[in-house]
Order: sequence, then structure tokens, then C-alpha cells
Amino acid sequence: MSVRVRLAPSPTGNLHIGTARTAVFNWLFARNRGGQFILRIEDTDLERSRPEFTQNILDGLKWLGLNWDEGPFFQSKRIDLYRDAIQKLLDAGLAYRCYCTPEELDEMRSAQKAKNQAPRYDNRHRHLTADQRAAFEAQGRQPVIRFKIDDDREIRWKDRVRDSVVWKGSDLGGDMVIARAATGTEVGQPLYNLAVVVDDIDMNITHVIRGEDHIANTAKQILLYEALGGTVPEFAHTPLILNPDGRKLSKRDGVTSISEFQKLGYTAEALANYMTLLGWTPPDSTQEIFTLEEAAKQFSFDRVNKAGAKFDWDKLDWLNSQYIHNLPVAELTDRLIPYWQEAGYEFDPEGERPWLEQLTALIGPSLTRLKDAVDMASGFFAPTVTPDEEAERQLEQEGAIAVLEAVRDQLEPDEPLDTDGVKAIVKTVTKETKLKKGLIMRSLRAALTGAVHGPDLVESWVLLHQRGVDLTRLQQILDR
Ligand code: GLU
Repeated sequence: MSVRVRLAPSPTGNLHIGTARTAVFNWLFARNRGGQFILRIEDTDLERSRPEFTQNILDGLKWLGLNWDEGPFFQSKRIDLYRDAIQKLLDAGLAYRCYCTPEELDEMRSAQKAKNQAPRYDNRHRHLTADQRAAFEAQGRQPVIRFKIDDDREIRWKDRVRDSVVWKGSDLGGDMVIARAATGTEVGQPLYNLAVVVDDIDMNITHVIRGEDHIANTAKQILLYEALGGTVPEFAHTPLILNPDGRKLSKRDGVTSISEFQKLGYTAEALANYMTLLGWTPPDSTQEIFTLEEAAKQFSFDRVNKAGAKFDWDKLDWLNSQYIHNLPVAELTDRLIPYWQEAGYEFDPEGERPWLEQLTALIGPSLTRLKDAVDMASGFFAPTVTPDEEAERQLEQEGAIAVLEAVRDQLEPDEPLDTDGVKAIVKTVTKETKLKKGLIMRSLRAALTGAVHGPDLVESWVLLHQRGVDLTRLQQILDR
């Protein structure tokens, strides 16, 4: 049977790096096997699910190049299917109504705690008589629906990543709730484990690939597959992404959503490449840079680690810089323009296109993140600059002002200026002022860019001349 995998994000937040990495592994496996990648939005939690999070998830997956073949399907539109399955379990005696109140459950847990036992539901309403049920109903209690879990059961599966996994039924917390409370014979809101299994059966999912934090769910879900007569898929539990301290990456670690990485200036290619390396090693372990398509050709679960994968910003930055430096100038320009627009710089993206490309060519090699271009280019867009402290010290050097005056006299604001023209001016000024070239260049840089460091000065000057700001900047210093 052809491979069918799914990504099943809950739209209770923006696309998280952990979910995106799960998406990457699903995508790679599907593409490797010529299978189908299905997207299912698990929005049964109506209070926490939001359409804007769904949008963020869809946008993030598209941006990363993780195209899906079917979906998105929405669980909120499939509730009847889950209710039918629950009814089937009730009819078969595999599930039952439990009338315990929250207070009773709390009491149960406190008693267990006092005896140093793990908290669990003690299955006390498994065998209620019709009279007992009627009595609870008469009290107005609203039952949840629980699925029976045998304590003696041993659940085993061969995990594609973790190999043999064994889970004891007695470690699953007692009979599990599969639907929230509802009155009388109603079936309340179906819950995660049930809905996932119904969908995975209905969508003919062959492999469930997800984070290892779902292992206990897998044990429960296998029991549900059996009870509902579905074929149990294969499972692959991928390692968690850890922070530098070795703990699960969480919101406290700062940037965790894909849209935030995008805003910071990571390219989709670098981020997808990096996520692939978070847990997977290519057959040639020295290979670090590859596209998703290239990785898909070589992907297998044999080379997915069991151990957690530490998130390494330096590595991501390095990969990102490699991608940026390899982008053709026109393409890089296209990607920088939105960052410059966002920063509020004024320019005409079409009319000034050649200038923007020259600027990109100048600063591109120094970029690690696309957003670095905001700071690096600010002096090129602004009509004026205020020299920083170091630049001021440079401008106080003996001869600096004489340099600026001499250059001003050479400059023809309405004539084009290229790199040869700049070099000719510098040569003339060197001759005229008899000052050292180093001093001339440093003083010019300080006046033109407001800083003592930066990209190639000759190229920078050419760009500033095209924007018509070189002379004004010199004059501004001279007028002080
Ligand atoms: N909705 C679950 C989550 O976001 C999906 C888990 C699964 O893949 O079954 O964690």
C-alpha cells in the first residue's frame, strides 16, 4: 500500500518549530516513498483554536516548501464521525458513561497521593447497574465517556525510530476519557485520542510520524485502533528539540515559531535544511547543505537519532549565511526589499531597482540574516547621517576637514560617478592636499557614512552619489 502520512497540528498557537520539524520528517518520508502527505487541522478544542493560528500554520508550511497533497481537513467539521465511533464503542461495551464529579476525582487523586501512588482513575464506574446510572442521572450529573483500558494489557509496537516499545496498560492512568460531559444519552465533545484514531483510520494513514512526547498517546491509540477495527499504522517518534540546557525547547526560550524565524531574516531554505538536520543525519554525514528534495531522496528513519536534538543558533546562522551568499543578486534583492520596506526606508522598488541591486551586491556578502540588511543599509537610504563617536574622532583629525573641502570642490553632483571616477577624485585630492591616503579614506568614510567601518568605501560612495546624498553629507559636516 502506498505511504500516507499526516501532519495534525492544533491551531492553538503559531506554527511551532517542533511541529514544523515533524512536518519536515513527514514530508521527507512521503516524498522518499512516493506517498501522500495529508494536512489535518486538529481544532476540536474550540476555546483555544483560532483561525489566525490556522492561517499562520498554513502560511508557514507553504513558506518552508512543505506542500501537502490532501487537505487541510478540519476536525471541527468531522464531529459526527467521532460521535458515531464513540457510539460504536458504547454499543460494544468497550466504553461507558462515568458520572464522577470533579470533586470525587480530586478526592481519588489525593488518596492515591497519600499512598504514594501515581494518580489514575480507578475505573469505579465501569460496572454501574442501570439503577445506579439512573440515580446519578436523577441528580443531574453529566457523564463523560470513558474507554476501557485493561491493566493487564501490554501494548507493544516496533517504532521506526525507537525500535521496540512496550507499554503497560496499568501505566495509562485508568480508563480514558474519550468524550467530554454531556447530558443523559448525548455524546459530549470528542477528545483528542479518539478523534486522531478515527481520522487516521478514515484517512488510511500508514505511518504516524510525530514527536516523542506522544508516546503514551500512541499506547492508548493502539487500543482504540483495535477496538474500532482499524489497521494499526506504523509509528515513528522523533526526538524532541532541546534548548542549549538540554531541556525541551519552549516558549521561554524566546523564538520558537516559524513566523518569528522568518521575521528575523532566516531564509526558508536554510531553516528547512536546519530542521532536517535536527535529528536526521544524511548518509554522507559531512553533507550539511541540501534542499528538501535532495534530503528526501536519501531520507530514512534508520538515520534519525533517538536522543534529543539540541537547537544550535550558530549552526543555523552559518547555514543561513551560506544560503544568502549563494543567492543570485536579483533574488536576494527581492528578499531584502520587504525588510527595508518594513523598516520604513523610502525608495522606489521599481524605479531604483538597479541601485537596490548594487546595494545588495555590496552588503550581501556580509549578511548572516536577511534582517541584518536593515542596519547595514540604513546609511544608504537616509538623506543624512549623524557621525558616531568614532567617526567624530576621525573628523577631528588634522587634515580631515581639508580633505572634505577638496573633495567637495571636485564633486559634480549632476554628473554620474562610477568607481573609476571616485578613484580619480581621491588621486587628485591626495596630490592637492599631500595627505596620506589612509587619512583621506577614513575621513571620507566618516563624513559620508557616519561610521569608520563598513562595506567597500568606493562602492558605497558610488551608491550614495546615485542617491544624490554624497555632496550634502560632506557639506553638512563642513557647515558645522
Ligand atoms: N494535534 C496534535 C498535536 O498538535 C497532533 C498529534 C498527532 O500527530 O497525532 O500535538
